[in-house]
Amino acid sequence: MQGHELEGQGNSLKLQEYQAKKIVALYGIPLPEGEIVATPQDARRVAARLGGKVVIKAQVPVGGRDKAGGIALVDGPDAAEAAARYILGMQIKGLVVRELLVEEAVAVAQELYLGLVVDRGSRRIVMMASAEGGVDIEEVARRAPTSLVRVSLDPFLGLRPYQIRELAAGIGLPPSLFTAFSALAQGLYDCFPASDATLVEINPLAVTQAGQLIALDAKILLDDNAFYRHPDWAALSDEHQDDPREREAREAGLSYVKLDGEIGCMVNGAGLAMATMDIIQHHGGRPANFLDIGGGARAERVAAALRIILADENVRAVLINIFGGLTRCDEVARGILSVLSEIQPRVPIIVRLVGTNEEEGQRILARANVTIAESLAGAAQKAVKAVRGVLKAGLP
Ligand code: GDP
Ligand code: MN
Repeated sequence: MQGHELEGQGNSLKLQEYQAKKIVALYGIPLPEGEIVATPQDARRVAARLGGKVVIKAQVPVGGRDKAGGIALVDGPDAAEAAARYILGMQIKGLVVRELLVEEAVAVAQELYLGLVVDRGSRRIVMMASAEGGVDIEEVARRAPTSLVRVSLDPFLGLRPYQIRELAAGIGLPPSLFTAFSALAQGLYDCFPASDATLVEINPLAVTQAGQLIALDAKILLDDNAFYRHPDWAALSDEHQDDPREREAREAGLSYVKLDGEIGCMVNGAGLAMATMDIIQHHGGRPANFLDIGGGARAERVAAALRIILADENVRAVLINIFGGLTRCDEVARGILSVLSEIQPRVPIIVRLVGTNEEEGQRILARANVTIAESLAGAAQKAVKAVRGVLKAGLP
């Protein structure tokens, strides 16, 4: 699987800062007081209520908002309204800002980093801390790798007191802040499995000039595979912010991750999907996506999958690899045919279809404008050739 971006987060739902803050607040993480607003008038009202300096923060689920001009530190209601007018409607990394978090400003003495992530390599949750907070953790890892302290958590023992001490000492935390730091680390740790997160991050974790710890930013990625346990999550995913194809796939019951290659893949079973992607790479191609239609998919789900793949403008060939068991080849063929009766695909479609009801499936596809392959290697080679322009679209 090297070369694909499936490790690490997998398929995750990234929360907005204010949503992440609501969750970590339940675990006792100290936060500035604030409110979410959508108009300059409301920004003024909240600033007046909070009094003093406030921070106006664009709510888009991407990092680097500060650099993009999406965060403003202002003096009072007038300046809050002006800053809100400026930031609302702004685009940050392609996302339009529709909401702002207005928070009381904090006098910062130092910015720390504290986060938890699933480390798939060691199959453990890892807690990380750094005295170089405020910037992306990837940047910290590059610029000041020795400043990043990591402790690996035993799944049965959890976060141990000595590990909290190791983190605190590693970032040079003043002893006077240890009790607060310890409570914060424990709260963050409790939050992680309870919310089915793959990442929880406080960055920056500010040390205030008054000598207190407070979370200025929070980031949470939720594991898509746990969606069924959290019906409330549907309300968290904002249709304006989601990749529309990933959203469509989720609604159709498909596991779909967009990648940056040219060969669209439709496969049943995650293992077979990965093997298919690897064999595409082996023959010199690059997968445009990971897509698992799951077991026993009916024609409608197959059709939804093919529509999603064909809607990706990077796709220059489609490889359908079905190993029928619970999944019936005739259903798959009917799904393919129904899409081809609606739209004329602009790229060749190569199909390898074996297993349950294979003959019926092949018979249905004989009428379709697709290329049939006998083996997976043959199918991958045909797809790679098609992308290289050796085969013209639509030719067998
Ligand atoms: P990001 O750039 O998208 O990660 O947004 P952050 O929420 O991390 O904010 C970026 C930076 O804004 C922080 O690193 C702080 O330097 C600054 N900032 C945010 N809130 C406050 C605040 O209340 N007081 C001060 N002084 N700075 C703040
Ligand atoms: Mn941040």
